[in-house]
Amino acid sequence: MGLVVQKYGGSSVADAEGIKRVAKRIVDAKKNGHQVVVVVSAMGDTTDELIDLAGQVSPIPAGREFDMLLTAGERISMALLAMAIKNLGHEAQSFTGSQAGVITDSVHNKARIIDVTPGRIRTALDEGNIAIVAGFQGVSQDKKDITTLGRGGSDTTAVALAAALDAEVCEIYTDVDGVFTADPRVVPKARKIDRISFEDMLELASSGSKVLLHRCVEYARRYNIPIHVRSSFSGLQGTWVSNEQGDRKVEQAIISGVAHDTSEAKITVVGVPDKPGEAATIFRAIANNEINIDMVVQNVSAASTGLTDISFTLPKAEGRKAIDALEKTKSTIGFESLRYDDQIAKISLVGAGMKTNPGVTAGFFEALSDAGVNIELISTSEIRISVVTRADEVKEAVRAVHSAFGLDSDSDEAVVYGGTGR
Ligand code: ADP
Ligand code: ASP
Ligand code: MG
Repeated sequence: MGLVVQKYGGSSVADAEGIKRVAKRIVDAKKNGHQVVVVVSAMGDTTDELIDLAGQVSPIPAGREFDMLLTAGERISMALLAMAIKNLGHEAQSFTGSQAGVITDSVHNKARIIDVTPGRIRTALDEGNIAIVAGFQGVSQDKKDITTLGRGGSDTTAVALAAALDAEVCEIYTDVDGVFTADPRVVPKARKIDRISFEDMLELASSGSKVLLHRCVEYARRYNIPIHVRSSFSGLQGTWVSNEQGDRKVEQAIISGVAHDTSEAKITVVGVPDKPGEAATIFRAIANNEINIDMVVQNVSAASTGLTDISFTLPKAEGRKAIDALEKTKSTIGFESLRYDDQIAKISLVGAGMKTNPGVTAGFFEALSDAGVNIELISTSEIRISVVTRADEVKEAVRAVHSAFGLDSDSDEAVVYGGTGR
């Protein structure tokens, strides 16, 4: 029996009962002969509550202090979980990200893991302990400041530890039975996927299927760590995310699923002079502020004015910073104005079979048009089509596309065991 890394999300440890239930599961894995490393998230919606609290004392909190605050959530759950395990008669020790050797760069609020040195975890395991690690946090290599890995970052902590400790599997325990063909909170007829490739999972995750964070999938693919996504509330087998070799052949579906994302906003730079270098200046200003953008569209310029509009999407959380950065370039670029719209949603259809099946794009647009949904932006990759629509149309649009591609399950409705969907 080898080493397993188990990660429990916030909804799995939402209250004392949840912590005790999870402790039993962990002890069962230990009794089965595994060495067990557990990564735990903050209880329930604690992280959101801490963010709200920070907003009440400062509109743009300093990154260093913000990270220090947010990491407190995971420290609470790791200590309580270790206590609950000890109460069941087993040895457990909790560790912060820094103690567990999670070394990051120094970009606060979305740090990247650059090294993992889990010496203390190894020692704890060798001494017979279950090791509990606070997810979503690390320590910066240069300044030794506490950092966080971005929302949902505990998934990445789990896979990074699994890679560093050469675990046989990384189990991600959550509040649904695995990865579904759409978010079960929006599409009750979504179907559980038994096996999915890293490639398709990466596209689903980066398109907004928050059941797994895309950075975690990227990491797992790089180190070839199989991920088993499953419910902490049921004993069912979940979804295996892995490469496609040997007995891990994934389902040969044309379409893997439909993802949606309401966490982005759209900025339109209106009246940009249509000459070389303008787009470069705009996006350099954004990049210099460590802001990641997603979709970009430049409208055809009206010949008479020689001006064009450039629209792009970005995380809502970065909206204020991006607007401030662009305002500063206004005189250099000479654009007319900025428009900010946070009432948008992105809907994506993902599937490796798209490459070789004509008609997928047409079918996607037809489904949206039949549902009366207007499309504002479009972007595609080899295995994904995404569109931006109005936020209040997103649920209807996702359901329409899911049905149109024959993804609806004809058995029972998908179960959502917990969580608030926040
Ligand atoms: P945790 O707290 O365990 O990290 P998250 O809330 O981050 O849980 O992720 C689980 C949630 O992801 C589910 O409750 C579900 O609403 C959402 N989700 C979005 N897309 C999917 C999908 N394709 N399959 C399963 N769950 C999805
Ligand atoms: N608690 C953090 C969050 O809510 C990290 C995580 O749960 O993965 O984003
Ligand atoms: Mg999560």
